Amino acid sequence: MSASRTIIVVGAGIGGLTASLTLASKGFRVVVLEKSDHLEEVGAGLQLSPNASRVLTGLGLQERLALQAVVPEAISIMSARAGGELVRLPLGDAASARAGAPYWVVHRGELQQALAAQASENPHIELRLGCHFEDTAPHAKGLTVAYRNGSSHQQELATALIGADGVWSTVRQHIFPEVQPRFSGLIAWRATLEISQLPREYSARRVQLWMGPNAHLVVYPISGGRKINVVAVVPGTWNRPGVSPPGDAFEIRDVFSPSQWPAPARMIVGAVDKWLKWGLFGVPEGSPWSKGPVALLGDAVHAMLPFAAQGAAMAIEDAAVLANLLADGAASPAEVTATFKRYGDLRRARVMRVQRTARQAGHIYHLTGPMALARDTVIRALGAQRMLARQEWIYSWRLDRPPQGASLSTAQ
Ligand SMILES: Cc1cc2nc3c(=O)[nH]c(=O)nc-3n(C[C@H](O)[C@H](O)[C@H](O)COP(=O)(O)OP(=O)(O)OC[C@H]3O[C@@H](n4cnc5c(N)ncnc54)[C@H](O)[C@@H]3O)c2cc1C
Repeated sequence: MSASRTIIVVGAGIGGLTASLTLASKGFRVVVLEKSDHLEEVGAGLQLSPNASRVLTGLGLQERLALQAVVPEAISIMSARAGGELVRLPLGDAASARAGAPYWVVHRGELQQALAAQASENPHIELRLGCHFEDTAPHAKGLTVAYRNGSSHQQELATALIGADGVWSTVRQHIFPEVQPRFSGLIAWRATLEISQLPREYSARRVQLWMGPNAHLVVYPISGGRKINVVAVVPGTWNRPGVSPPGDAFEIRDVFSPSQWPAPARMIVGAVDKWLKWGLFGVPEGSPWSKGPVALLGDAVHAMLPFAAQGAAMAIEDAAVLANLLADGAASPAEVTATFKRYGDLRRARVMRVQRTARQAGHIYHLTGPMALARDTVIRALGAQRMLARQEWIYSWRLDRPPQGASLSTAQ
């Protein structure tokens, strides 16, 4: 295949690997540069709603994920103030059939491995591990991309460059140095438990969202139901890139105190010995998506608070849209530039709305006092079907169909 059809993707996270598959499916040769020497099990659980799983099943991932992805029967919205469940949103196989795609909960590492395995079987995709993107410069037929592999400096010619290199993106830093991630003041404490570490009722295929004063807790099965993913979100000051050293289990147990949290929530937090802390950063809403033949994708352009459970889902949608647009004919640098501009124009409004939804969800989850009582009353009054209907504009997204209206988040 000619170099004029080569696209370089920086980053082999969920966004970059999905983009390699969508682009290869449109006939491009794709080189993925990943700075890590091996794909580590970074992160923990991810919820993938039908808008994202639809893209992945379209790429043939369903069989590969069959043993790992769990289809939850429901999302239970729980209130610390009320002491238990407010409403149970039904999901399960019937909802998957209605949506035409499953709602999955999956370990991020297992999803990444499945995507990488799919990419490695595709002759049009080359995954180069241990390769740090460093620089790019325009070239008569596209651009030259410079990267480092150990002590060796290398270059590659390409039609286009896609920065899928996460919230601390070097590609973004290169084209938009003024765009800087912002710390939210919130920390996600993440842990994974063996199913045997919790009482039997926690083996149910259900997502539990516990809302409480200035904190929330999300719990769901992953790894084919063999493990439980636990995320506790609390205010904090850890604001350096990446994962912190292990969090102090006593510190987080103090936040989930008996005076404010009922026993089931405290039992889950208390079962964890080993926590990892993640400072939650966002890329400012409305940040630019592309410059010339360089485009950004996923967290590099729209890292968001995880409370709508849509960060990876939006990266997956980006990958589908981008490949579709490029396939419509983008050979010259001018055509690629115009296509990337159109990509940003198509994605911006939806992604910003999801970012806002996630931010608002965080406020709602963490309400205290009379405001928490009002929240619980409204959620009960709305009931399961109307709560689910409010997610429809997110979940019903399809590549070939414009999105629908309405908002409010319930997930993480
Ligand atoms: C607590 C928490 C819960 C979440 N829950 C959900 C959820 O339920 N559902 C959901 O959809 N999303 C969720 N998210 C968000 C989701 O994890 C991210 O949005 C998603 O993983 C971003 O994927 P990405 O591919 O854009 O970036 P990343 O996963 O960050 O991947 C970037 C890759 O680029 C590589 N890289 C970086 N710099 C370079 C360089 N210079 N050269 C080469 N390679 C480079 C990195 O090593 C990495 O592999 C959650 C996030 C958090 C923190």
